[in-house]
Amino acid sequence: MLNIPSQAFPAPSSQQRVASGGRSKVPLKQGRSLMDWIRLTKSGKDLTGLKGRLIEVTEEELKKHNTKDDCWICIRGFVYNVSPYMEYHPGGEDELMKAAGSDGTDLFDQVHRWVNYESMLKECLVGRMAVKPAVPKDYHEEKKVLNGMLPKSQVPDALAKEGPVSPSYDWFQTDSLVTIVIYTKQKDVNLDSVIVDHQYDSFRAETIIKDYSYLIHIVLSRSIYAIANELSHAIQEDFSVRVVANVGKIEIVLKKKENTSWECLGHPLENHNSLIPKKDTGLYYRKCQLISKEDATHDTKLFCLMLPPSTHLQVPIGQHVYLKLTITGTEIVKPYTPVSDSLLSEFKEPVIPNNKYIYFLIKIYPAGLFTPELDHLQIGDFVSISNPEGNFKIAQFQELEDLFLLAAGTGFTPMVKILNYALTNISSLRKVKLMFFNKTEDDIIWRSQLEKLAFKDKRFDVEFVLSQPTSEWNGKKGCISPGLLSEFLKRSLDNSKVLICICGPAAFTEQGMRMLHDLNFSKDEIHAFTAS
Ligand code: FAD
Ligand code: NAP
Repeated sequence: MLNIPSQAFPAPSSQQRVASGGRSKVPLKQGRSLMDWIRLTKSGKDLTGLKGRLIEVTEEELKKHNTKDDCWICIRGFVYNVSPYMEYHPGGEDELMKAAGSDGTDLFDQVHRWVNYESMLKECLVGRMAVKPAVPKDYHEEKKVLNGMLPKSQVPDALAKEGPVSPSYDWFQTDSLVTIVIYTKQKDVNLDSVIVDHQYDSFRAETIIKDYSYLIHIVLSRSIYAIANELSHAIQEDFSVRVVANVGKIEIVLKKKENTSWECLGHPLENHNSLIPKKDTGLYYRKCQLISKEDATHDTKLFCLMLPPSTHLQVPIGQHVYLKLTITGTEIVKPYTPVSDSLLSEFKEPVIPNNKYIYFLIKIYPAGLFTPELDHLQIGDFVSISNPEGNFKIAQFQELEDLFLLAAGTGFTPMVKILNYALTNISSLRKVKLMFFNKTEDDIIWRSQLEKLAFKDKRFDVEFVLSQPTSEWNGKKGCISPGLLSEFLKRSLDNSKVLICICGPAAFTEQGMRMLHDLNFSKDEIHAFTAS
């Protein structure tokens, strides 16, 4: 049982306060934490008022339920009675009421698309909307069997005008291999751009092109007559992915299980051959195994998770993923930023020579909801990992001369890959400085690695700032302040190209941003890592 303390809730550092889009965060009443909500949903209480019945809801009916005490909201075609949830909503009752008696899908996606509402609200499910959500016009014209011809892409009209040129795909075979080729028609694709999963009988390849996602989504099948459970046996678990960057071509090479000629590639699944805005795609998860867990500080651990052999996924620098665990029957999802296994690979031989492993530095909050569960996992247990999200672009490093990193606590995590990448790949770089805010010396993550890196690479400097130092501490003291920043953020040349990255508790980042603007740094010179 989790021991939830009786102090102000959510605590200033609680994820339940870390909401995107700058929306207001409201203090919740005592006994209204996420864990309390989960308990209520397990209590057997009738939360919909329908005694477990599911009904078809017409638009007229939905509109009637628009008060706090009787509030129905539709999300992706499913209707929920959210009145019992009102007091537990971290964004407050007024936020929920904005969607009362209507379709709240867009509002929900803007604020927290990643929250697993299906699981959180399952006891509030009233039923489906009577009118089915519109299916893209051309969908039924898609060939039912993919026989090597290029089917027409599912590109909504509006997208065709404003989005990137729609990719297409084709497939080829030899006796032992099937190669799926995606023609992205873009030049800046790389191995991070494509995420491939072969799970059960479905094959899914999502190519990220700017803010859009192009999906190949099929049941692989060597024969048009094959039945579903035969299909998963058609190819071996592992496959390879190659990118020909200069022509924007991605090749996925699958190994056949039997050397027989395939009549077709398979049968299309939902959104197959579609180009859709990334924000409109759901998060896709795969189960990863916990390989190791070691202490980084007294409360922060380095977790290593292994992707399944049937997944190709590389998290781009500066992006995060969502980890999902089922806690007392409810799926809980929280964001985490992958790191490298160390700051300098020379300090530690890479244990594993490929990209199958993802590392996380995660602080365990004893009274938190998610991290104690994560901490209790045994080696070999599974955690689900989502596709990457985030808006940091490697292009921000172009011609960069000065890189300043402002990190507080685990806000250090995005800085790890940024440091590794910048010091190794950006030849224009003259200076990299990290200002790392922590409460005490014991809280500093990877202190000795940072000091070694500063010793080894003359371009890099680190300054530790402690808010609760002991009397022996000779370094900088205090919190983020204009004085500390103006002294720290000195350009190497008067007009040098500079980038400042900032990450930490939401209030730290917000304050820091304001101070940076006051110090006349432009928006283009600042990247803030936030929950959005
Ligand atoms: P929560 O339940 O959210 O609790 C957090 C704090 O609130 C704890 O101090 C807890 O004691 C306190 N608290 C909880 N309930 C109560 C209550 N009823 N009363 C008073 N206090 C309470 N974190 C990392 O460690 N590493 C990362 O790489 C990382 N990356 C992130 C990336 C992004 C984009 C974002 C937005 C966040 C990231 N985080 C990261 C933070 C992470 O997502 C979680 O917020 C964090 O792990 C806490 O989760 P939790 O469920 O264990 O704690
Ligand atoms: P912590 O140990 O509580 O604090 C670290 C440092 O930040 C301390 O020096 C602390 O000073 C300062 N700080 C905390 N709250 C502050 C505030 N309101 N204003 C100014 N300074 C403040 O931090 P933590 O527990 O590791 O938390 C890290 C946070 O980073 C979490 O909220 C997590 O969600 C976030 N994070 C975000 C991302 C992302 O968005 N991409 C990635 C990783 C982590 P004081 O002693 O004065 O409080």
